[in-house]
Amino acid sequence: MLFGALEAGGTKMVMAVGEENGKILEQKTIPTTTPEETMPQIVEYFKEKIEEKGIVALGVGAFGPVDVVKGSPTYGHILNTPKLAWKKYNLVGTLEKELGIPVGLDTDVNGSCLGEMTYGCAKGLDTVVYITIGTGIGAGIAVGGRLLHGMLHPEAGHILIAKNSHDPGKSVCPYHDSCFEGLASGPSIEARWGKKAVELVDKTIVWELESEYVAKGLVNMILTLSPQKIILGGGVMHQEQLFPMIRSKVMAMLNDYYTTRELCDMDSYIVPASLQDNQGIMGAVRLAQLAYEKME
Ligand code: ADP
Ligand code: ZN
Repeated sequence: MLFGALEAGGTKMVMAVGEENGKILEQKTIPTTTPEETMPQIVEYFKEKIEEKGIVALGVGAFGPVDVVKGSPTYGHILNTPKLAWKKYNLVGTLEKELGIPVGLDTDVNGSCLGEMTYGCAKGLDTVVYITIGTGIGAGIAVGGRLLHGMLHPEAGHILIAKNSHDPGKSVCPYHDSCFEGLASGPSIEARWGKKAVELVDKTIVWELESEYVAKGLVNMILTLSPQKIILGGGVMHQEQLFPMIRSKVMAMLNDYYTTRELCDMDSYIVPASLQDNQGIMGAVRLAQLAYEKME
């Protein structure tokens, strides 16, 4: 059985056809502009895949905030996004109406978390945090085997963390003076040091500060959610030297407050994404599968 998958991002839309085992058979990327321009291209792609390949459902991992609460009057709508053309846009409703197949939805980061739990390094675990550190910071969270929604969905990229008093920069988040995304996203690195993160590879101070902020964010999530594993993805985390720095700072910040089997094996506790940057689109395949099973 084949499934459609859509990773709906603020800058690009990744569309794919995948198998139940997560294998991506084909994919196409288009830029995200306005709904009027972008949506017909998405609809056309998946209509063709329904006819040619017989895909039976579509899974969507969407940028947010997005209403993922089943039964809510605005379920499936993009909410208060800075991408104004998409504000209040009925993403799921449009896709369901145009395609006539079940559509499963979650946030892009919950989708990535699900991808890693189904096909990747978090297989068999039930409480997992997936964090992307890229243009923004976002966290996908599963607790007890279920992706966390609650009143809407977590926005843990904006948890407040203490600013280092020697930090020469300032928060790039328009909402918060001292939040995770404001202090540790790719754009915040660029604003602080005047160069793109990738051009700062040999500057130790850059990665010392970055790993301190990431560790602060992680410690808050460890203490709140007690995850069995934390997966770090996104462009900035391609700087692999960050991993050992983050691990040792997390240990130092926890300060032996508690000890678990997982915390004793930090190299397998805080890990890079394991699916070659396909965790999002593979998670969307799984969302499609879940939507299909629910319909049966
Ligand atoms: P997005 O978050 O938009 O989906 P990315 O995850 O690629 O996309 O994040 C883009 C951000 O990550 C940019 O701020 C960029 O400077 C930074 N980035 C991308 N690649 C690298 C890299 N190899 N090393 C460090 N930073 C990177
Ligand atoms: Zn913020």
